[in-house]
Formats: sequence, C-alpha cells, structure tokens
Amino acid sequence: MKHGFADARREIKKLEPFISHISRRIFETPETNFQEIKSSAFLVSELQKQGFSVKRGKGRLKTAFEAVWRGKRKNPTIAILAEYDALPEIGHACGHNMIAALGLGAALAVKNIAGKKCGTLKVIGTPAEEGGGGKLLMIKEGWFNGVDAAIMAHPSNKTRVVSRMLAVMEIEFLFYGKASHAAAHPELGINALDGVINLFNAVNAMRQQTPDFSRVHGIITHGGDAPNIIPEFASAKFMVRGLTMPDFKFMIERLRRCAAGAAKTAGCRLKIKANPLAYHPFEPNRTMGKVFAENLRKTGLKESGIGETEEIGSSDIGNLSQVLPALHPEFAVSDGEAVNHSRDFLKAVLSKKGTGNMLKTATALAATVLELFGNPGLIKEAKREFLRLKKG
Ligand SMILES: [Zn+2]
Ligand SMILES: [Zn+2]
Repeated sequence: MKHGFADARREIKKLEPFISHISRRIFETPETNFQEIKSSAFLVSELQKQGFSVKRGKGRLKTAFEAVWRGKRKNPTIAILAEYDALPEIGHACGHNMIAALGLGAALAVKNIAGKKCGTLKVIGTPAEEGGGGKLLMIKEGWFNGVDAAIMAHPSNKTRVVSRMLAVMEIEFLFYGKASHAAAHPELGINALDGVINLFNAVNAMRQQTPDFSRVHGIITHGGDAPNIIPEFASAKFMVRGLTMPDFKFMIERLRRCAAGAAKTAGCRLKIKANPLAYHPFEPNRTMGKVFAENLRKTGLKESGIGETEEIGSSDIGNLSQVLPALHPEFAVSDGEAVNHSRDFLKAVLSKKGTGNMLKTATALAATVLELFGNPGLIKEAKREFLRLKKG
C-alpha cells in the first residue's frame, strides 16, 4: 500500500515535541552566515541519533552537511533542504530555525513511515542563505549531483505554495576624483561625490524603462571626508534584480551604463566591483507544487491567495532551481503586516500560530516526499517540466 497524507499526519503528531524543540534550540543560538557552528552541530547530532549517515562540509562550507537515509531502492534521490542561518542584530527574524526544524521532522517522519521502501532520502544543510550564497557554493562543489528533486518550506507573513523569486546581484561603484580646497580652488578639484549623485539621478530616470518586477536600489557608502574638501573618493552600493535571466542581464547592463555616464559627466574615474555570488531567478516546480498544495489543503492551512509574483524577494534556492526541480513553499507565521526581517516577525516565529503552521507544513512536506517516493511517475513529470523550462 502506498503511504500518504494520513501516515504523515499521524507521524508528525508524534514528532511535534521533537520539531518544536529543534525550532526553539536553533532560535535561541542565532548564528550568521557561515558561522552556524552550534546550529549545524546540533542538527547533525539529532540526525545521527535517528540513523542518518552524515557527511560534513569543509573550509568555507564547514557548517554545511548532508544526512542520508537509504532505502532498498537507489532511486529517486529526494533532498529536503535545511537552512539555519540568522540575521545580524535581529537573530532569527527570517525564521530559518523553522526551516531546519520542520525539514528534520518531515525527513524523520518519511523514514519512520516508509523505512526501507524509500529511495535515497537526504537532508541537506545549506548555510548562509542571507547573502552568503551557501547553495551556490554547494552547487559548485557537487553536493546536489544525483539529486532528483529538492524541497524546503520557508516561514512568511503569508501562505503560498508556488511563487517566483527575483535574481539579484550586488554591485559597488567606486568613483575617483581629485581633492582641492572647496572655497579657494574648487576649479582644481574633481568631485567624486558628483559621480555618485549623477549615478542616483540616472538610475531614477532609468526606472521608467525597466521590465516589470525589476528592482534597483542603492546606498551611498562613502560621500567624502569634509565639506571643505572637494571629495576625491565616493562610492555607492546597489542591488539590482530581475524576474528572468534576460531581464536580470538587461538591468545589470543598464546600471553599468548609468555609472559610466555618471563618471564621465563628473570627470571621475570609475571602478565597478560586482559580487560574483549572484542569486538567480527562482523557478518553482509546479508538478511538485500541485502535490504539496493538495497536502497542505488537507492540513487545514489555507493559502493566502496572493499572486506568484507579488511581494517576492530573492534566495539562493533560485540557483538550485536552475539545475534541478525545486520547490520553496511559504507558510504564514505572522499576520500580513509583520514581514520577514522585522522585530514583529521575530516575535511571531515562536508564537502559537507560527508553531501550529510549522507543524502543518511539516505534515504537508512529509506527505509530499512520501508521494514522490511512492509514485515514480511524479518525479518523471517534475523532471519533464524542468527540462521544458530550461529549453524555454
Ligand atoms: Zn531572509
Ligand atoms: Zn529566509
């Protein structure tokens, strides 16, 4: 007999104290990008206790891990992703402690229910989602080779199974001018701050001609040293985003041209430093999405009815969705106004509503993975969808 929702619900019910304990433990020791030492060690030890065999990362990826449960069949290989990095200053205000807790809970439920009937079940611990690009580095190191599908669930202020996400890149612009006395000899100076201000004005004009959903936003990181010195150096840092790869490339190119024009007008020399860790657009796998949505519906947790391109950010799961079928549903832990990365969201993470919805989501995740193992046609369809999109 095939396993499904009813089994997942029963098993997650038993695991409720375990899942809540993990969520709280990670929440109480917030660790930022690549420094998730205690969090990853704790998750690894819990998985080992449950019979998973664990491989840990090295060097920059020392807080990454892979925990494997092998059934009798080799295929398919399904990865549940766990994030556990916190934000600077405001701790787990993105609720990644919940991603890890419900991911471990779902994996354990699948193992307990299907046992040897599983294919290969992995929990992959992916550090540094908040700007560090952990998954990018892990893709490069081959951690996802042989994985047929990847799935995780993220807390939010809304519940939505299928959504898109924007590609994002950070670019810094350094303007070099020439210092001079601002009152006695301004004509001998070259004002680097003018370069920065021209750049902001050019970007603001460009906004009228950008593709839908694109974003560009920046800050001045250096604006001079004293008002009586013509600034010899000024700099700005921008983030630029697009919904598709062509839009993303278009936006980067336009931003670069704005900067070149800004420097030319001010007579400055320009240096551009682009962060090579760009996040790519997230393409949700709708085949898996349908299965997950149906399971989530059965838990009683309703989707918020918000469109798939509304209120979207960026994540390194975008890069993963470009190499394999991936799903990243969101579940509400707060009400509409308390958004991720806020103090109100931080409060909601351990709230009754937050915990309740985390457990429902764990049930839906476990049921979905059970169905993916039990129905080989589903993985095939998810892969066909992925390949259509790549050709697309
Ligand atoms: Zn976040
Ligand atoms: Zn997050």
